[in-house]
Amino acid sequence: MESNLLIYNTLSRTKEVFRPLNPPFTGMYVCGPTVYGDPHLGHARPAITFDLVFRYLQHVGYRVRYVRNITDVGHLENDADEGEDKIAKKARLEQLEPMEVAQYYSDRYFLFMEAMNVKRPSIEPRASGHIPEQIEMIRKILDAGYAYEVNGSVYFDVIKYNKKYHYGKLSGRILEDLLSNTRELEGQDEKRNPVDFALWKKAHPEHIMRWSSPWGEGFPGWHLECSAMGAKYLGKHFDIHGGGMDLMFPHHESEIAQSRIANGSDSVKYWMHNNMITINGQKMGKSLGNFITLEEFFTGDHPGLTQAYSPMTIRFFILQAHYRSTLDFSNEALQAAEKGLRKLLSGLETLQKIIPSETSSGFNIRQLTDNCYQAMNDDFNSPMVIANLFEGVRIINSIWEKKETISLPDLELLKNMFRVFLFEILGLREESSEGQNDVVKGLMDLVLAIRKDVREKKDFSTSDKIRNTLQDLKISVKDTKEGPVWSID
Ligand code: ZN
Repeated sequence: MESNLLIYNTLSRTKEVFRPLNPPFTGMYVCGPTVYGDPHLGHARPAITFDLVFRYLQHVGYRVRYVRNITDVGHLENDADEGEDKIAKKARLEQLEPMEVAQYYSDRYFLFMEAMNVKRPSIEPRASGHIPEQIEMIRKILDAGYAYEVNGSVYFDVIKYNKKYHYGKLSGRILEDLLSNTRELEGQDEKRNPVDFALWKKAHPEHIMRWSSPWGEGFPGWHLECSAMGAKYLGKHFDIHGGGMDLMFPHHESEIAQSRIANGSDSVKYWMHNNMITINGQKMGKSLGNFITLEEFFTGDHPGLTQAYSPMTIRFFILQAHYRSTLDFSNEALQAAEKGLRKLLSGLETLQKIIPSETSSGFNIRQLTDNCYQAMNDDFNSPMVIANLFEGVRIINSIWEKKETISLPDLELLKNMFRVFLFEILGLREESSEGQNDVVKGLMDLVLAIRKDVREKKDFSTSDKIRNTLQDLKISVKDTKEGPVWSID
């Protein structure tokens, strides 16, 4: 399969031609959410970025197996392998089973991703369902001599690994710097070196999420689950591994090291990282108080928001920036995205009403479509695709205003360009528009007119039927001096 697709590989720091190991099949692994809190804007960006990649690879003919994990175990509060398990902490605070917490937040994650039209991956494995695979991988690393056991915990020996391989090749970190910057934390003394990371942690008596292992009761380290599940579902070698830039170190760097030792060679061909979302130029985070959940965006219920923003506005806002650029959130930027999307969709509406002429004016629709493909082939340049769609809207409006004409074949090409790029590849869709609200309003006017009519005729059985049905639909009607007023409860 011939490929014109260029992917920026974070590992080589260059754009490389996409040549999958086993075309037309291709495998992609993306680090998914840790399910202990409500999904926020920071969850939306990787999900939408890799949804774009997934959609485009399928569009150009690849058979993609897309794996995105759910982290429901063993993710401690800091990267130093200390502190409380985040899910267990939430469970303790809310008096729930840890798995209840994990289920609740993964359901919320799926719900909000669906609202933003993010396609479900091919496989969504949970870390808690893959403990034997993780134990097996630890055993291999121990056998190879790159890990050691202390008091029921197993740590990866980074110093030994770095003598032969390069720990830091993905993130550009230098081990010597890491060594001098890492403070000795209390309780870390069982590690030979503070840069070593846990493959398995012994569970203290109060730790709820625990499994048996050859090293006693405990739970796996966070980095390990992705290496184990990636290898299980995509093989020891696969094409794309993605995630947010914040995961490059230590998560992905450690994944590379583990997989190198357990599999005997590097597992991943192309590493892809989406950049971060900032809020008014600041990093987003719970501790910074500028943390806005997706639900808050969709309802507008947050002091930092001047209005509600629809799921498609959020999606369009994210796609308007290239995935490797930082993206700064502000109300102004989101309002601009909302306006831009509305302009595209109303252009499309106009397009459906256009009547073709004998010939087209000077524009070149084929070229416009080619530009979209070239943009996508250049490391998934969605903002460039959007710019070409706006050019399409300019042409549509000009034809509608009778300044230009379009032939039937060109009209079909233009419709096809919007169908493929706006809907199929960018994954945008029309939201429940005001048009539908108009229909509901019209129907309610009709129902209330009939209600008035039957009341005047003293047809109480029909009147009761209307009242009961409206009650079932949670629509309440109040009679006022100006006539009946209805609302949905
Ligand atoms: Zn991961």
